[in-house]
Amino acid sequence: LGGSISRALAQMSNATVIDEKVLGECLNEISRALLQSDVQFKMVRDMQTNIRKIVNLETLAAGTNKRRIIQQAVFSELCNMLDPGKAAFIPKKGKPSVVMFVGLQGSGKTTTCTKYAYYHQRKGFKPSLVCADTFRAGAFDQLKQNATKAKIPFYGSYMESDPVKIAVEGLERFRKENSDLIIIDTSGRHKQEAALFEEMRQVAEATKPDLVIFVMDGSIGQAAFDQAQAFKQSAAVGAVIVTKMDGHAKGGGALSAVAATKSPVIFIGTGEHIDEFEVFDVKPFVSRLLGMGDLGGLMDKIQDVMPADQQPELLAKLAEGTFTLRLLYEQFQNLLKMGPIGQVFSMLPGFSSELMPKGHEKEGQAKIKRYMTIMDSMTDAELDSTNPKLMTESRVMRIARGSGRQVRDVMDMLEEYKRLAKMWSKMKGLKMPKNGKMSDL
Ligand code: GDP
Ligand code: MG
Repeated sequence: LGGSISRALAQMSNATVIDEKVLGECLNEISRALLQSDVQFKMVRDMQTNIRKIVNLETLAAGTNKRRIIQQAVFSELCNMLDPGKAAFIPKKGKPSVVMFVGLQGSGKTTTCTKYAYYHQRKGFKPSLVCADTFRAGAFDQLKQNATKAKIPFYGSYMESDPVKIAVEGLERFRKENSDLIIIDTSGRHKQEAALFEEMRQVAEATKPDLVIFVMDGSIGQAAFDQAQAFKQSAAVGAVIVTKMDGHAKGGGALSAVAATKSPVIFIGTGEHIDEFEVFDVKPFVSRLLGMGDLGGLMDKIQDVMPADQQPELLAKLAEGTFTLRLLYEQFQNLLKMGPIGQVFSMLPGFSSELMPKGHEKEGQAKIKRYMTIMDSMTDAELDSTNPKLMTESRVMRIARGSGRQVRDVMDMLEEYKRLAKMWSKMKGLKMPKNGKMSDL
């Protein structure tokens, strides 16, 4: 007994020892969360090794919130792991580009091809779709249906069995039609077979794509590394899209896919519908991997930058979860101020990545001002409505006239609102601190 007491005392007088223990416990806890999020075992181990190098035990000993210091170190380490150090090819309007999709059957290629086309169509591109999946019966019908709904030109065949031939024909046809984004969907079969990879190699060789996108199911887990690597070896994969992030999957396999292909994640799929597609935003993704929820980073930020007496009001609005156009207008005002509150809103998932992408803040501001001008022509009832059916065609036309913009601009603004409202709805029922202060959460 005497021995253990003196040992405990010795430990307490030596802060470094205690912090070593805290660090170990914290890392174990975080590692468990990452493994549950399907991060590959080896990557979790690498992360641990790196954190031990980065986290300085003396800083830790001096810091008041050790857990938070460690968590932040892990957070930025995971962000680094998702950053391969080079950007993906970005198609340019009016300049013909070819983008080829690869991935296993069922990963979501065909669905994602159409989402990708639609996303660019909304940005003013002239996309087109080529179905080079001749393996699965019904593949062409599926693409045809998706493309027709989105009014995107498509090419394929029920008879032809050579995917290379179809890909080349489709390419020729759409080059003639001046499509500036020709998207090639391919077969995936159901497992990794030599024949599949040979086929991908041939299609890529014949079509010389500007970008090959590897599509992976967000729930794929430990198999992600080998799968991504196998595709990388048959075609020069330059970007990753993670699908089915609307389910329980946390998408930890994305870390493996980035490592195996040395390419960034560019979008995530968040549903079966054509507009359930988001630009990849690393911070909310990592928060989710760590089990911190979408709002983990946001909460820290609110606490750091916002005067304590303003926190309760903001939290109440977040918890309410009703996102009217008026609330959006107020948030735009905040965002333009870029004061503390602006910083908070720029952290909301979907706000910064789409509205104010890094390096394009000027354009982002111009867009937000344009949206606000449009909203200035709305009635109070329109601004405060929670009924999505209220915006009839005649109202949209009146708003366009009133603000001196095109109907298309108004539609664009309303689409953006819908997208943000959907993100906002995730915050409904946010846990409120008892006395309204963030530090008590
Ligand atoms: P492919 O075989 O790779 O072409 O995959 P498909 O595009 O045919 O998709 C397979 C299934 O996954 C279909 O039922 C899709 O509707 C579904 N799917 C694709 N992406 C998503 C997504 O982001 N979320 C959800 N919930 N389902 C998706
Ligand atoms: Mg398919």
